[in-house]
Amino acid sequence: MQVVWFKRDLRIQDNAALAMAAQNGDLLPLYILEPVLWNQADMNRRQYQFLTDCLAELDQVLQKIGQRLIIKVGDAVDVLQQLDSINSITALWSHQETWNGWTYSRDQRVKAWIKKSNILWHQPVQNGVIRHLKERNGWASHWHALMNKPLLLATDKINKIEHDSDFLPSAKMLGLKDDNYTACQQGGRSEALSLLNSFLYQRGEGYTKEMSSPVTAFDSCSRLSSHLAFGTLSMREVFHAVEQRRQELKNGPPASKRKWLSAIRSYSGRLRWHCHFIQKLEDETCLEFENLHSAYNNLREQVFNAEHFEAWKTGLTGYPMVDACMRALISTGWINFRMRAMLASFASYHLWLHWRQPALHLARLFVDYEPRIHYAQIQMQSGTTGINSIRINNPIKQGIDHDPEGIFIRQWLPELRNMSTKHIHKPWECPSKMNGYPMPIIDEKTARKSASDKIYSICKNTAHQPETGQIVIKHASRKSTMNKNNGPKKPKKTPAKAKPIQGELPF
Ligand SMILES: Cc1cc2nc3c(=O)[nH]c(=O)nc-3n(C[C@H](O)[C@H](O)[C@H](O)COP(=O)(O)OP(=O)(O)OC[C@H]3O[C@@H](n4cnc5c(N)ncnc54)[C@H](O)[C@@H]3O)c2cc1C
Repeated sequence: MQVVWFKRDLRIQDNAALAMAAQNGDLLPLYILEPVLWNQADMNRRQYQFLTDCLAELDQVLQKIGQRLIIKVGDAVDVLQQLDSINSITALWSHQETWNGWTYSRDQRVKAWIKKSNILWHQPVQNGVIRHLKERNGWASHWHALMNKPLLLATDKINKIEHDSDFLPSAKMLGLKDDNYTACQQGGRSEALSLLNSFLYQRGEGYTKEMSSPVTAFDSCSRLSSHLAFGTLSMREVFHAVEQRRQELKNGPPASKRKWLSAIRSYSGRLRWHCHFIQKLEDETCLEFENLHSAYNNLREQVFNAEHFEAWKTGLTGYPMVDACMRALISTGWINFRMRAMLASFASYHLWLHWRQPALHLARLFVDYEPRIHYAQIQMQSGTTGINSIRINNPIKQGIDHDPEGIFIRQWLPELRNMSTKHIHKPWECPSKMNGYPMPIIDEKTARKSASDKIYSICKNTAHQPETGQIVIKHASRKSTMNKNNGPKKPKKTPAKAKPIQGELPF
C-alpha cells in the first residue's frame, strides 16, 4: 500500500504527491493530527478551527472519488509504524515541507524510520522552494518556470482500502484555549475559490492603493493567506488564475483596465515574495530562534519589560493605531501587511522587546501563520537581518496616513468612539474624552530616537560587513537595493539562466 500523507496541501487539485502516487497504484490518503505539534508555543485554537474546516471538505471530496480521508491522532512515526504493520507500506508520498522547527525535527525522525524500514519517501516540490539551495542567483527564473507549468489534474478515482479513522479531538481536548476570536475565517477549498474569484473580478480593483490602510484592506486584499498556508489552493493555481485574469484584461475593453492591471501586477509580485521568504527559512532554520546577523546578538536579550509586553499584547499601549490593530487581530485573526509591520516595529523599537516573544504572540493570533514568512518578516521589522533598511514606524503617522478620519480606530477602540477627529491619533491631548483609554506607556519620540541610536551604532560598524555580505549572497532578493547605512551593496551579478536543478521540478 502507498500512503499519501497530507500535510499543508489539503486539496486534490494540483497536488503532486497525490497525482504521482495515483499513477503508481493503490493509495491511502492520510492526515496525522499530532497533539504535540498543537501544543507548541506558536499554535492556537483559531488555526485548528480553520484546519478542521479544511479537513472536513477534503474528506467529502475524497469520498466522492472512492476513499475517505483516514485521520490518525498521534505521533507521526508511531502512526506510520502501525499502518505498516497492518498493510505493509511500499511508498510514502508527501509534499516537501518547510514549516517550523518542530516539524523539521519530526521529519528527521520520520526519515530515520523510513530508512530503517526500507520504504521510499517521495517529497515533490509544492511551491518553488528549493531544498539545499547554494545561492540565490536564478531563483526567480526557477520559480516562474515552475509556476508556468500546467496544473496537475485532480485524481478522479481512488480504490477503497478499508481502514479505521480516528475522530478529530476537540480544540479543548488538545488544550487550545479560547482567545476572543469572534469574526472567524472559514477554511476549506470552496471558500478559497470564492475568495480568489471575488478578489480577481470584484474586490481587487483598488488593491494597489487600498492594501495599506486597515480601513480598506480587509476587503481589498485577497485574504488568501490562510488558504495558502493550509494548501487548500496551490500557489500555482493562484498564479494561473492571476495570469488568466491579466490576459482577459489585456484583451478586454479599456474601462478601468489600468487600475486592474496595476492591481494584478502588485499582487503577482507578492505571490513570488511568499516563496522568496519561505526559501529564507528553508536555508536557515535557526531564523526562527536566533538573529540572522550575529552582530545584533545581545542587543535586546538582557532587557524585557513584561508590563510593556502585556500592554502591547492586549491593545493597551495608549497609541490608538497600535491598539486598534492588535484588537482587530485578536478578533479576526488577520491584519494587513503594513499594520503587521507597525505592530512588530513598535514592539521591537519603541518597547525595545526582543522579537521572539512578540513573534510567538503574533503567530498565535494569525490564522495564516506561516513560520517561514513570519520569522523572516519579524526579523526584518526588528532590524536583526543586517541586510534590510531599518524602518522604525511612527504609530501616530501611520494612523494619520492610513486612517485619517479615525474610522478604524473608533471601530476597534470603543473607549475613543466619542473622541474628535482632531485628537483621535493623540487622545492624551484631550484627557477629558479618553474614557478609560490608557495614557501612552512610552514617549514616542524619545523611544524612537533611543532605538535608532542603538540600532544604527551597529549598522554603521564596518567590522560586521563580511557577515552582511555573506547574508546578501545567500538570502537577498536579487531585485532589492541596499540601504547605504546597512552595509555593502548587493553583488552586481546578472541572474543565471534557469537550468533545471535535480529534484526541483517534478513535472
Ligand atoms: C511581522 C509580519 C509577519 C507576517 N507573518 C505572516 C505569516 O505568518 N503568514 C503569511 O502568510 N504572511 C505573513 N506576513 C506577510 C503579509 O502580511 C501577509 O501575507 C498578508 O497580509 C496576507 O494577507 P492577504 O492574503 O490578503 O495578502 P495579499 O496582499 O492579498 O497578498 C497575496 C499573497 O501574497 C503573499 N504576500 C503578501 N505580502 C507578503 C509579504 N510581505 N511577504 C511574503 N508574502 C506576502 C501572501 O501569501 C499573500 O496571501 C507577515 C508580515 C509581517 C510584516
